[in-house]
Amino acid sequence: MIKESALSTRDAIESIVVPAGDYLLKKISKGQTLRITDSEGNQAADCLFYSVSNSAERYSAMDTIRSQGNVYLTAGTTLVSNYGNPMLTISADTCGRHDTLGGACATESNTVRYALDKRCMHACRDSWMLAVAENIDSGISKRDITHNINFFMNVPVTEDGGLTFEDGISAPGKYVELEAKMDVYFLLSNCPQLNNPCNGYNPTPVKIDIW
Ligand SMILES: [Zn+2]
Repeated sequence: MIKESALSTRDAIESIVVPAGDYLLKKISKGQTLRITDSEGNQAADCLFYSVSNSAERYSAMDTIRSQGNVYLTAGTTLVSNYGNPMLTISADTCGRHDTLGGACATESNTVRYALDKRCMHACRDSWMLAVAENIDSGISKRDITHNINFFMNVPVTEDGGLTFEDGISAPGKYVELEAKMDVYFLLSNCPQLNNPCNGYNPTPVKIDIW
């Protein structure tokens, strides 16, 4: 569902550009709004969310899909934790559909999906592992890295129940906005993937704004 935001980036308290292949770990307080902008189009923003007070409580794809009865995320979606609590709601979305089934890229999946010699290529899981290693204070560890959201990524479910990685439906300047319902850690890997058409084989920066 396309829903424009009423917020202006001029009023944002913080704006950060995250290059492709980098991570961002940021605390978002209850009541704050987070916007992720697909600066150049067709990028995949691989995201995880954790409760600040307990990193064992985190975004759950299964609980979110079950509670809304829809496999795609868009405006109106509530991101539900593995404890059944609302973590954030998607308050605006100009892309219209986001994936939470496809998972994040890893060196292992690069090897299985593409070729053995793709194993050494940078993947989202590497960025998250680096993030938790460099931010021990967050309390998030390797064991907490689980299923995620791929904002802007187009992973349609086929008639026979399979998944395909398709050319993106996003475009330059499209954004998704989330309002925090609890204090959360936002962990982003701006996907460096070069082997599938979701980002047009050309990873690009995303912009983060916080109100
Ligand atoms: Zn990735």
